[in-house]
Amino acid sequence: MDRIVVLGHKDHGKSTLIGQLLIQTNSVFESRIAEAKRASKRLGKKFEPAFLLDSFSEERAYGLTLDTTRAELKYKGAAYEFIDVPGHKELIQNMITGASYADSAILVVSAKAGEGFKDQTRRHVFIANMLGIDFFIVAVNKLDAVGYSEQAFNKIKGEVEAYLKAVGINNFVFVPVSAYTGENLVALSKNMKWYKGKPLLEILHGRVHKKGHGHERQAVVLLHGTVEGERERFIAGRVISGKLSSKQQLLLLPENKKVTLLSLLVKGKKSRQAKKGENIAAKLSVDVKEPKGKVLASTNADISVGKKLPAKILTVSGLSSKLQINFNGVLLGCKIGKLGRKIDILTGKPYKHGKIFAAECELELSKPIVYSSFAKYPELGRFILLSDGNFSGFGIVNNRN
Ligand code: GDP
Repeated sequence: MDRIVVLGHKDHGKSTLIGQLLIQTNSVFESRIAEAKRASKRLGKKFEPAFLLDSFSEERAYGLTLDTTRAELKYKGAAYEFIDVPGHKELIQNMITGASYADSAILVVSAKAGEGFKDQTRRHVFIANMLGIDFFIVAVNKLDAVGYSEQAFNKIKGEVEAYLKAVGINNFVFVPVSAYTGENLVALSKNMKWYKGKPLLEILHGRVHKKGHGHERQAVVLLHGTVEGERERFIAGRVISGKLSSKQQLLLLPENKKVTLLSLLVKGKKSRQAKKGENIAAKLSVDVKEPKGKVLASTNADISVGKKLPAKILTVSGLSSKLQINFNGVLLGCKIGKLGRKIDILTGKPYKHGKIFAAECELELSKPIVYSSFAKYPELGRFILLSDGNFSGFGIVNNRN
């Protein structure tokens, strides 16, 4: 399953776009469409495809498992999950907690008069890129409201492209769409003959299948606690890379001790193997005290232990002198050591004023932790900053030079 985050300013058409993609790929029942039509009518509106997503929330209230912010569809044999992230808080939360391992984004920017490319959208893009999204499909939306004008499309394209380049993003594609009428989403529209590219879903399809996965071979398990069995205690964790086999030799970090995996449970059942993404319980040849934040890894997994992290941070409010870091649920005191040049995230240029900036720095922690670069193992390379106990920024661990 490929996951795609959908970003953009409120009312620029994110839910409408997802709703139309569901309709055009036959991913929703007719009955649901009929229901969304009735809901639109009740409000005295024309049919709103966005209501297809809103109706999920009613079902959730009855205990069904659908989530308002996620929608799945299949296209040419591949499965996609779209994640609607309305604001930066949701985006940061989603990405930091590992709720979504997206590597592509659809950025929805409305071309309608008075809408356009907003500051909030710039922040969204910057944050998404820092958290590992490296491919952006920019859907310039509501072309129907501007007479399908190529000039209107080019104006937005120019602004967004200048910003993407200024902040160092080079992997992007622009597509003019009308989410409401469903044009250039799955099929090309006759109303925009000047557009020579592919429809949005085709762009996504091409990209995802070119990339491929499976580059992480080393077994790595991030531990988060213990579970009590009938007679014994197991450590619990999540496989974040590679495959794990019972009887395997592993390194326990930060102790740097060789251990053997004596038994392995997946979903509460004995298992000989576990793979990336699975939660496990295990018994080791040694007893692990306070497993939270510790790591089991193949000996050649390239993971570090230390108190000084080379990092890139982004603040969302001023940082206080009582700074803490939340690293995979472990809360530690921290200080900012060497601080590099501050960048204004709205322009990509050196920062002049305000409290919101991005910078490279060295973080000095009160105790050593197990970490890696975000590029190598995202789960071991991202964190949240707290000032006086409040969320005040986040960051990633850079590669060591
Ligand atoms: P979101 O907040 O980004 O999810 O935006 P919505 O999908 O809820 O859309 C906000 C409003 O814009 C709704 O009234 C939609 O009907 C309207 N809208 C969305 N896409 C289009 C479009 O392509 N053309 C026009 N004219 N209106 C659109």
